[in-house]
Amino acid sequence: MRFAVIGAGFYGLHIATRLKALGLEIRVFEKSDDILTFASGNNQFRLHLGFHYARNFRTRQQSRDGFFRFLERYQQLTEPIPENYYLVPKGDSLIDFSTYKLIMMSSGLDFVEKEHPVEISYPCGSVVTAERVLMIDRARQHFYQHLPDTIELGVEATVSMDDDRVRVNGESFDYCIDCTWGHLMPDKNFFFESTILLYYRKKEAGSLARAYTFVDGPLCSLYPTEKPGIFTLSSVPYTPIAQHGTSDEALHAIATLSSHDINLKRLLMEKQIMRYYPGFLDDYEYLDPQLCVKTKPFGHDDDRSCYVKRYGRLIKCLSGKVDNIFYAAAEVMALIEDETE
Ligand SMILES: Cc1cc2nc3c(=O)[nH]c(=O)nc-3n(C[C@H](O)[C@H](O)[C@H](O)COP(=O)(O)OP(=O)(O)OC[C@H]3O[C@@H](n4cnc5c(N)ncnc54)[C@H](O)[C@@H]3O)c2cc1C
Repeated sequence: MRFAVIGAGFYGLHIATRLKALGLEIRVFEKSDDILTFASGNNQFRLHLGFHYARNFRTRQQSRDGFFRFLERYQQLTEPIPENYYLVPKGDSLIDFSTYKLIMMSSGLDFVEKEHPVEISYPCGSVVTAERVLMIDRARQHFYQHLPDTIELGVEATVSMDDDRVRVNGESFDYCIDCTWGHLMPDKNFFFESTILLYYRKKEAGSLARAYTFVDGPLCSLYPTEKPGIFTLSSVPYTPIAQHGTSDEALHAIATLSSHDINLKRLLMEKQIMRYYPGFLDDYEYLDPQLCVKTKPFGHDDDRSCYVKRYGRLIKCLSGKVDNIFYAAAEVMALIEDETE
């Protein structure tokens, strides 16, 4: 059987690897000239366990399962973070610290309650978690090595279907797996959100890499990247730039964002984190913005879980986060099971 996978982000690459392991014929089409270049290469690089999602059970469960499966298969593509704090600021969080801990405990998430460092001067309950950081350069090397002669770069795919075949750029396949996070074919239940994160360098080289994630609600987080001393600053209210009905509109928004708008976002995001960490700008210097697009379901319940849908010979994966790749691959396998046995 012949499979086309469209998109060489974490989803397309992981699913292609699993299908290839079954002995199936796989081709991966990627419009960019490298792999892991769009959302998978432009995010906060957090391998989630579920601590970010106090308000969404499905997301927490997928993250918890996905985290451990990620470590089983791809531990070498992650690194631990020496002190990874989740902080619940008194009065600013939508839920109090006791409720937060209860939700995480009842979801089977282990943490250690620990007083936060003095650089965080705002009263917060705090826990330390085992969430890790994703290593994107290593992931690129891994997937190039495990998918030789499989990935076609610089090929923008279009899809058409007849009764029992699907065509990608006119070529016939048994199945096509759309791993473009909704960019190939929009979905009425999802919208596109243009986003901005900010990169900072920690001034004191070699000091401990601490991650700070303030929850729950319209708060912010500071998280290390794969590059020593380089962090991302993200903000629930200020990272979103705008909502868009189409992929083209969202891509246009990030391509044309002015330096004035970037500076405005920067001021707002720095002001927000300095409410909790007043010395932030003494310790970190601003580098660059990171611009990308999120595909999100409508609704206010903070759903970042993964959905896999089948339309005839086309299977579409709508990711939420990187840890959900195992859920997506299992769903794809279940949908094609009868025909691959
Ligand atoms: C600001 C931000 C912060 C985030 N933080 C985190 C985080 O900390 N942890 C986490 O787990 N997740 C995070 N996410 C979510 C995570 O990035 C995504 O869930 C994940 O990367 C999606 O992977 P993907 O493979 O589905 O999509 P992508 O990585 O976007 O891959 C899709 C690929 O499809 C290609 N493509 C699109 N159209 C076509 C076409 N027609 N033909 C050929 N190729 C095409 C694109 O070029 C792209 O390479 C964040 C996302 C954003 C935007």
